[in-house]
Amino acid sequence: MARKIGSRYTAHQILGRGSAGTVWLGEGPEGPVAIKLLREDLASDQELVGRFVQERTALLSLDHARVVGVRDLVVDGNDLALVMDLVRGTDLRTRLDRERRLAPEAAVAIAADVADALSAAHAAGIVHRDVKPENVLLDMQGPLGPGGAHPALLTDFGIAKLIDTPRRTRATKIIGTPDYLAPEIIEGLPPRAAVDIYALATVLYELLAGFTPFGGGHPGAILRRHVTETVVPLPGIPDELWQLLIQCLAKAPASRLRASEMATRLRELLPLLAGMAPLDVDEPDAEPVADEPEAPAVEPEEPERPRRGAVSLVPGAAPADSNRDTHTSMRVPAPDELAGGARGTARAPRASGAPRPGSARNRHSARRRRITLAVAGVVLAAAVGGGVWAVSSGGDDPPPSDGQNSAPAEP
Ligand code: ADP
Ligand code: MG
Repeated sequence: MARKIGSRYTAHQILGRGSAGTVWLGEGPEGPVAIKLLREDLASDQELVGRFVQERTALLSLDHARVVGVRDLVVDGNDLALVMDLVRGTDLRTRLDRERRLAPEAAVAIAADVADALSAAHAAGIVHRDVKPENVLLDMQGPLGPGGAHPALLTDFGIAKLIDTPRRTRATKIIGTPDYLAPEIIEGLPPRAAVDIYALATVLYELLAGFTPFGGGHPGAILRRHVTETVVPLPGIPDELWQLLIQCLAKAPASRLRASEMATRLRELLPLLAGMAPLDVDEPDAEPVADEPEAPAVEPEEPERPRRGAVSLVPGAAPADSNRDTHTSMRVPAPDELAGGARGTARAPRASGAPRPGSARNRHSARRRRITLAVAGVVLAAAVGGGVWAVSSGGDDPPPSDGQNSAPAEP
């Protein structure tokens, strides 16, 4: 079913849906294009349309091999459409869903591409504000790079800013996707280039681990972790890569690398990572249970892991795809709310197979140990139990401090 978009474009078939609208495979005067047709309620918002038109030049000006270029902006009746370069491939979220974790070499190659894109944007004074796997497209027709990674392109530049300011979000609202939000945004500071570095480091961590460092559970809990908690090392990660990650995940924006430095440092790591298998880590429990009492006689079923905090972009709007729509628009938490409870809730990744103390899985293994005790006698059970506890206690080690290197965050 073909559909005319303005006088120059025709939309042919749906490529995908996002929180802001539907992306179509289309045809323009210069060949195939991708056309993002904004959601009706967004397109009928006159103020929003005005902002798009105002930002037209900025949107159209970003021309870089690692940026999905915006070629045109069409305002036609009830339609507001962004005409983009067509990327033949998939988005990084789809790849991550399929593979769960990427080999470090491929993950770092993809992150380096995105860092290049950010470097170009930041040099032009544009902050992306919504770096996440959904907004990274993999060009399957491009040449294979290190680790068999296809070229990665960053899309949706400046869109978060256009859609989210200023009427939809007053100074007291936070915009972004909870898992990737830099702590300074949560504390109410204006988003500068360093927020994109934090988000990209979060994406890289996720590519390596299969989960984000502070995600899981209620969006409010995620926000608090960004501000108060320290990221816990991934088992088996090469130290050079870990140091780079924690520097870019530093709470202080000025301590993070700049995009161009990040790209260079990531590429320097590629030879070290060549041929390395994906890390063998288990996802930590979303909400650790504090001071768990002795396991009850009847074991409860393993609880379902809470879904990653998903709040619709516009209050009241139903997400197009609940797995994908992870934008949040929430009140800035008060300092005492951010301070959280006395106990930290850092989500400590465990080596594969190692349960965390107090978790349901751990309670299961505690029961298994008790049964073993009864059947096989004290000596054997003590050896097995000791092994389990030795591994799981790794999460209680003191966390590393943030990177100390201070690089200016602003281009
Ligand atoms: P939203 O900004 O509304 O979240 P996205 O930009 O994430 O929408 O696009 C939704 C989906 O459409 C993507 O996951 C991807 O599959 C597809 N898509 C988006 N842009 C392009 C493009 N330029 N070329 C090809 N496919 C695209
Ligand atoms: Mg998007």
